[in-house]
Amino acid sequence: MPFDKATAIAHTQFFIDEINDRLSRFSPIVLVGGTAVSIYAYFRIRTILRRSDRPVHQRLMGYFVSLARYLPSVENKIQKQFEGIRGEIVESIHKYDQDRIFIRELLNTQLSPEDVIQKASEYESMGTFDVNGGRVSGTVYTDRDQKHIDFLSEIFKKYAYSNPLHPDVFPGVRKMEAEVVRMAANLFHGPPEACGTVSSGGTESIMLACFAYRNRAYAKGITEPVMIIPVTAHAAFDKAAFMMNIRVKHIPVDCNNRVNLKAMRSAISSDTCMIVGSAPNFPTGTIDDIAQISNLGLRYKVPVHVDACLGGFLIPFMEEAGFPLSLFDFRLPGVTSISCDTHKYGYAPKGTSVILYRSPEYLHDQYFAVTDWTGGIYATPTLAGSRSGLAIALTWGTMMYFGRNVYVSRTRAIVDSARELAKQIATIPGLEIYGTPEVSVVAFRSKEFNIYAVADKMNHLGWNLNTLQHPDSIHFCMTFNQARGEVITAFIADLRKACEEVNEMPNKGGASKTAAIYGTAALIPDRSLVSSMTHVFLDACYSMPEKLNH
Ligand SMILES: *Cc1c(COP(=O)(O)O)cnc(C)c1O
Repeated sequence: MPFDKATAIAHTQFFIDEINDRLSRFSPIVLVGGTAVSIYAYFRIRTILRRSDRPVHQRLMGYFVSLARYLPSVENKIQKQFEGIRGEIVESIHKYDQDRIFIRELLNTQLSPEDVIQKASEYESMGTFDVNGGRVSGTVYTDRDQKHIDFLSEIFKKYAYSNPLHPDVFPGVRKMEAEVVRMAANLFHGPPEACGTVSSGGTESIMLACFAYRNRAYAKGITEPVMIIPVTAHAAFDKAAFMMNIRVKHIPVDCNNRVNLKAMRSAISSDTCMIVGSAPNFPTGTIDDIAQISNLGLRYKVPVHVDACLGGFLIPFMEEAGFPLSLFDFRLPGVTSISCDTHKYGYAPKGTSVILYRSPEYLHDQYFAVTDWTGGIYATPTLAGSRSGLAIALTWGTMMYFGRNVYVSRTRAIVDSARELAKQIATIPGLEIYGTPEVSVVAFRSKEFNIYAVADKMNHLGWNLNTLQHPDSIHFCMTFNQARGEVITAFIADLRKACEEVNEMPNKGGASKTAAIYGTAALIPDRSLVSSMTHVFLDACYSMPEKLNH
């Protein structure tokens, strides 16, 4: 039928009349009310849908479970289950404590320093893992070289009570912080205007970057900013997103464990406040394709954060150590910020990290000021108010104490050992390397037996490894403590033995402790239940249970 304009208009007119006719049967109150309710419902549903990027069916399922928890019978059952788990968890937390005598009240009288130190030594000896012997993955990144510790003690004496919140009182610590930032910026080839701050750790550095980019997005009129991160990005991003009311889109990874760039590109929208790549990521030690992520940032004009918290003091030295990498730093023009942890491979004691920006325009979005506070005009560069000048001084001191050459030679030892470890793990029947171990982390899994059972067995043999999930896997993070032949040889021998034993177990190890925990967690549709399980664990850390009478 040829298009007839007159007929079309007549049809449209008829349609409009029909709607008018039907609507006029409702009173205006109903019309206005109905519209309001619909709009409210639309925004409610939109908000709920946007709250997380987990699949809708999973969230619906979780929603129903959480509704069911309002039923006393269901909630009682859940609590009973938790009680059972709680006892076990409390025992596992306190198993290192032989006497379980707790100090609950501030002592009325002084204890002699000798007595306090005696107690501190007793507490220290509760730990059973041989950290110095290299039995613990990650965690302590340097060896406990006595000369270094003695040196740090001297710094401690001078800076224990310093606080950079008062740069006039502690000008030395202020200078140290500026120097730590500049040294780090230069390691990452920051331009002259590159800048940043020292923070209390990787999590704070990441929070600060997210805070800056969220503020930047708000200033541009983005009311609901979204961050785009690989599923392998550190949990600190989710924590920051939650605290700062940023929506998160998690992007899947390819088979090599690098973020899928196509998926990342199509996730970018006008609401995007930042995109993230890890160099390397925590789970498998894989470096995302930072060059391509930088390109996306440039193309869509969104800031790019590179999380180098873990490897920040390895990757800048790798080329010199004989392990060249693709570019990952400010040499890529789209990279706007980098987080790197001085308290990991920077070998400083815990409590410091550096957040770097390409230029002050980003850093300024991290600063916070209260201009009309009755306590005076108040401005801080980081999340904290008062900060530990000591942590900064220990970091500065450590960087100066070692210097570039030691960082390079330690990097060579660590990366060399990690690659050797990966090579040998790949020869163990049933195991396969997971991800692309380029730096210091080696992740592995098994399609033949339960890898968590292997972790439990290794634990009994004195090794402390990290468990990963989605997929089931574990990793060993090589520190300078372990970068020696005898540790690798001992580890491989024990791992081989553990795998053989698990392979012989009923159910291929599926009933072991960690396997049971992750197995149960995977079966629970409501993540808030899993979350409650973590509360049981965290509560247990602060509990003071009676000694069990055996
Ligand atoms: C350790 C780590 C962090 C967070 O650091 P914390 O110092 O534990 O807060 C962030 N990203 C990666 C890749 C890490 O390995």
